[in-house]
Amino acid sequence: MRLTPGVARALVEHAARCAPREACGLVAGAGGVASAVHFATNVADRDDRYAIATDEQMRLRAAIARAGMDVMAVYHSHVDAPAWPSPRDVALSFVPRLPHVIVGPVRGETQIRAFLLDASAPPDGRIAELRVAVGDASAAPRA
Ligand SMILES: [Zn+2]
Repeated sequence: MRLTPGVARALVEHAARCAPREACGLVAGAGGVASAVHFATNVADRDDRYAIATDEQMRLRAAIARAGMDVMAVYHSHVDAPAWPSPRDVALSFVPRLPHVIVGPVRGETQIRAFLLDASAPPDGRIAELRVAVGDASAAPRA
């Protein structure tokens, strides 16, 4: 997954701004490059969890479609834990093909990592890490 530098910066800043609560939202783009971040309100009942209200998800998805983009990932932050899916993150992922971006640890050396999570797969098949590259599309090597 390729993120523009602006998206990478926005994800890290949103995570820092929301701490000690987890930040969450959607990453959108076109042509395989994530170029927009849509912040969401974390409605979870605990700081170390995240949830996006269904009506907000629908509103964000509509805005992304209107902009001619695709939803490329769901993101959330980990304030103290590393950028690796928690058992709960895996259990709650019911769209196996939609990448999950995790930003963390906010209170540490923050990384941006992406995963495909499949709650229905056998335990060792549930987490597949995707490569994350930061850079503009024009800087991508041409195939
Ligand atoms: Zn998590």
